[in-house]
Amino acid sequence: MKVYRFTCIVCPLGCSIEVEVENGEVREVRGCTCPRGKEWAVQEVTSPKRIVMSVVLVEGGALPTVSVKTAEPVPKDEIPELMKFLAGLKLKAPVEIGQAVAEWRGIKIVATRGA
Ligand code: SF4
Repeated sequence: MKVYRFTCIVCPLGCSIEVEVENGEVREVRGCTCPRGKEWAVQEVTSPKRIVMSVVLVEGGALPTVSVKTAEPVPKDEIPELMKFLAGLKLKAPVEIGQAVAEWRGIKIVATRGA
């Protein structure tokens, strides 16, 4: 049996969570004080995901790049491929904050500032 210990990042309370895994299956989750934390902890040991933030090149803007983030969490093991995709993107100004500037595997890439 393996025990994973996390600090939950879902809300500012930061509960200390333990997840017991045996033969690849979650046996017990301890320490979370709400269902959202339990769901996050189980996902963290079975299929961890992250919101990805980066920058993308922009032509014709006041600055040469614009900051972007994924509209939803991305599986951690797919982040290197996403970063290659973002490195190959070149947008044209104007870009509005909140604008979906691209899509990768069905996940929207959203500008977090204008350019
Ligand atoms: S377990 Fe629930 S209450 Fe605790 S940090 Fe996570 S989301 Fe917040």
